[in-house]
Amino acid sequence: ASKRFEESCIFCKIVAGQIPSKQVYSDDDVLAFHDVNPAAPVHVLIIPKEHIPTINDLQASDAEIMGKLMLAARKVASQLGLAESGYRLILNCGPDALQSVFHIHMHLVGGQKMGWPPF
Ligand code: 5GP
Ligand code: ZN
Repeated sequence: ASKRFEESCIFCKIVAGQIPSKQVYSDDDVLAFHDVNPAAPVHVLIIPKEHIPTINDLQASDAEIMGKLMLAARKVASQLGLAESGYRLILNCGPDALQSVFHIHMHLVGGQKMGWPPF
């Protein structure tokens, strides 16, 4: 089966190479690239190569890809030297969380001491 793709989606275009990005990790199912407007010294977005709009759209069959996002995060954190110092993984869903791109993406942020709670 071919991967889910949405013509109008900016992250699908990044996956397809139609929009450039600064990639840090890629495999068959997952892509990671630097956020164009970083909120921290390190700010990487980790996305499924398939189009899934939000966490609300997840199906049981998406369990594997969501697990793969986590494993990619671990690799990216290690690759960028954050394994020891730490980092934060964020998934924004919907209006209250200020989700602005409707293709699931995990933010990996680090390189500074952060605050908690995050709002
Ligand atoms: P959200 O608010 O939806 O959780 O996060 C979307 C993120 O995508 C934002 O941090 C924003 O800076 C980033 N972003 C939006 N468009 C682009 C783009 O074209 N390229 C890259 N690299 N990041 C983008
Ligand atoms: Zn998409």
